[in-house]
Amino acid sequence: MKIVTVVGARPQFIKAAAVSRVFAGRQDCAEVMIHTGQHFDANMSDVFFQELEIPKPAYHLGVGGGTHGQNTGRMIEGIESVLLEQRPDALLVYGDTDSTLAGALAAVKLHVPVVHVEAGLRSFNLRMPEEINRRLTDHVSSLLLTPNEQGIRNLAAEGICGAQVINVGDVMYDAALHFGITAEQTSSILEQLHLAPSAYWLATIHRQENTDDRLRLQRIFDGLGRAAATVVLPLHPRTRKRIADMAVQVPGNVRIIEPLGYIDMVMLEKHAALIVTDSGGVQKEAYFHRVPCLTLRDETEWVELLDMGWNRLAAPMSEGFLDAFELSYSKGSEDHQPYGSGQASLAVIKAILTLAQGN
Ligand code: UDP
Repeated sequence: MKIVTVVGARPQFIKAAAVSRVFAGRQDCAEVMIHTGQHFDANMSDVFFQELEIPKPAYHLGVGGGTHGQNTGRMIEGIESVLLEQRPDALLVYGDTDSTLAGALAAVKLHVPVVHVEAGLRSFNLRMPEEINRRLTDHVSSLLLTPNEQGIRNLAAEGICGAQVINVGDVMYDAALHFGITAEQTSSILEQLHLAPSAYWLATIHRQENTDDRLRLQRIFDGLGRAAATVVLPLHPRTRKRIADMAVQVPGNVRIIEPLGYIDMVMLEKHAALIVTDSGGVQKEAYFHRVPCLTLRDETEWVELLDMGWNRLAAPMSEGFLDAFELSYSKGSEDHQPYGSGQASLAVIKAILTLAQGN
């Protein structure tokens, strides 16, 4: 069976690292990877391929830096020509970026079955580009692999149900378990940054709704400034640009560093006292490593973590927002494991093989 995988953005490299490791160990599957170029900086892309041993992409489309429309259009064109050349049995996409949607649209029109890993997530906020990408991708996919039961429920509410919808668990959990061990063995990031375990907070900020509005971004930094601890902030290039362009004031306890490779990121996550983020992936990783999390958004797709008490929403424009940084946060419930057992990648491959046999 031949599968073409489309990746382009940081979270997709991490998901692909988990799944491609399983592909690589099998005789019955060949994976051809396309990198769209959506994330192109060395520390947002190359580092992940090197340290996570993701196979070198066979195709690099070099599409990045444009608007959503420009990027998506160019990606569709590039992916379509690869699909015509490669004639795969299926196309695999992850998550909810422009690369995800472009892959799905190029494939479905050539009648190549689309496999969507991380299907079924919803924020119900159509102002988020990610929500548009994930909804459209789900509606043209032949195989919808959800990370949790919530994904199954969300899809059912849109009339998508049946044997093509499977809760495989979260491939990011596989990655967190596997590379969590590597991080403890090899990362020296705590020493490099002179940080003691549990004596700092870790933050990430990159979501368009937070970065593009000066008042909102400043409120986030004002909140971080209320923390009694040092806040380490590996800064996404988009946020760095906005801080400079909009002259956002960064408080003295916030320590801005360059974006990290995944191994160092995992190490900082594991030993943080609190994680503050607007990232989808980092919210879950906080739970995987059993660290309480404060989410800088009005809503989240990962609602089970709110219910279990591992995550709390801090909506930046809400009244009590700044006070949220002066409260203390305890660990949540261990009653159930919403993201599977760390074997999601194997379940992804088994589901794809079953799909290919049926076609
Ligand atoms: N990440 C990383 N280095 C960083 C910041 C994040 O390796 O400096 C990882 C993080 O651990 C998670 C993924 O990037 O696995 C999340 O990506 P991002 O926040 O960009 O996207 P989202 O999850 O919101 O789609």
